[in-house]
Amino acid sequence: MSKNVVNNREGYAYPDQNIMNLFCGIVGDSNVLLDENDMQSFLSEPRNLYKAKAACVIKPSSVLEISNILKIANDNNIAIVPQGGNTGLVGGQVPYDKGNEVILSLSRLNKLRAIDISTNSITIEAGMTLDKVQKLADENDRLFPLSLGSEGSCQIGGNLATNAGGTAVIEYGNTRELTLGLEVVLADGKILNGLKSLRKDNTGYDLKNIFIGSEGTLGIITAATMKLFPKPKNIISTFVSLSNLNAAVDLLNFLREETMNKITSFELMPKIGIELVQKHKPNINIPLKDLNDWSALIEFSSNSTLDSARDDLENTLFKAINENYITDCIIAESISQSMDFWRIRHFIVEVQAYEGGSIKHDISIPIAKIPQFINEANNIAESVYPSSRPIPFGHIGDGNIHYNITQPINENTDKFMEKWHDMSSKVHDLVVKLNGSISAEHGIGRMKRDELYERSDSTKNYIMKNIKNALDARGILNPGKVL
Ligand SMILES: Cc1cc2nc3c(=O)[nH]c(=O)nc-3n(C[C@H](O)[C@H](O)[C@H](O)COP(=O)(O)OP(=O)(O)OC[C@H]3O[C@@H](n4cnc5c(N)ncnc54)[C@H](O)[C@@H]3O)c2cc1C
Repeated sequence: MSKNVVNNREGYAYPDQNIMNLFCGIVGDSNVLLDENDMQSFLSEPRNLYKAKAACVIKPSSVLEISNILKIANDNNIAIVPQGGNTGLVGGQVPYDKGNEVILSLSRLNKLRAIDISTNSITIEAGMTLDKVQKLADENDRLFPLSLGSEGSCQIGGNLATNAGGTAVIEYGNTRELTLGLEVVLADGKILNGLKSLRKDNTGYDLKNIFIGSEGTLGIITAATMKLFPKPKNIISTFVSLSNLNAAVDLLNFLREETMNKITSFELMPKIGIELVQKHKPNINIPLKDLNDWSALIEFSSNSTLDSARDDLENTLFKAINENYITDCIIAESISQSMDFWRIRHFIVEVQAYEGGSIKHDISIPIAKIPQFINEANNIAESVYPSSRPIPFGHIGDGNIHYNITQPINENTDKFMEKWHDMSSKVHDLVVKLNGSISAEHGIGRMKRDELYERSDSTKNYIMKNIKNALDARGILNPGKVL
């Protein structure tokens, strides 16, 4: 197999005492962590899939500090790994295990720069957590629609660097679509100031789009101007039991045509996932009894009165029962009941961990082919590891399925996890056959780096490498990730 070696990680320098002193001079001694215990939380990642070591963790609090750090790193051939909230699921934010890389934590760069209601925009620094951005928008009677299970910890800079998706993409788009302008520090310390709130700006190449989704390999995102939206007057959720898997796609199309409300989320959940939530979270109330094999949590927003939005939804769901798309449904009576519905959806991820190992795929497929994908992928799972338990769920409204396969009951976890590569390459072959993507929203990081190279068109690989070389000629930014 051809390997995609753009950078030679072995070749980076270990920052010596002089360099450490320079870093300390820029951010202060207390913001350069050297002790292994102090660095611990920066060295592991949510799935514990990668072992990491670092020379130090630096915690700057201004753009100028970051620019000065990068100048030193670039001049001295020191590898820099940007880290936001450390919630990434492909290992992009953690260094390799040689111990010579420097983690640049963005957490202290977290201020609000401006909020402009008339242009519906907010400018924030990269280290602000996503839930804080949402809260600031809300306090100003606006909506910032990006929403992920990790929103309490992930940062807007990390969301931008991974072009995060989440639950509202179906209506508002992913992070890229929500971005108006970026401020970025380049590998050599130059600062690109692109913090504009314009909706139209055709002045040459759209540079912000090169940095969005680049996973820290092209520059350090330090601030962003993001779109805000008027807050919908009402948000209503419904939990439906689908007649079968095909009905999920049919129901989505039907709702798009029939309802006056906007569909802001459409999340597919398998019965096995909900049963595991019931098993491990007995306090969670499952709203429908006698579930079918598939359920969906659908959220709508509306600017009409609550009564008329509910009437519209009730009529539409009644028709959906008559059309045999669904067999039962419940509309949330309150915000707290709606949050209960969402808890079920979010807990599906957590409860898999209580069942042992899971082999996970973050893929997207043209929506109409999702039932075919799930059926064929289930056959693959059974053939690679008999009695393994597929738990496919996710944002079906934008074709994004988290195709997770949990180990068989009472199986040895290590033995099952050894099959990750075999299982994934077969599942990804199917994804490619169906014209889908092997990374829908989590990115490439370390996990899919070689696979991206092997499966990409050679012209795409050529362009990506040339962009990397143009912006980071010495390859100091997040080496061994993406490329
Ligand atoms: C429970 C859970 C649910 C999740 N749900 C979703 C979901 O629905 N949709 C989704 O898309 N993702 C989801 N994720 C994945 C993850 O939360 C997102 O990828 C998120 O955008 C990462 O943000 P972060 O700040 O944690 O970034 P990190 O994990 O710290 O970093 C991610 C990548 O971005 C780079 N990076 C971080 N900050 C910067 C910066 N300022 N400049 C340049 N590069 C930077 C890092 O080097 C790394 O390559 C989920 C994760 C968890 C744990």
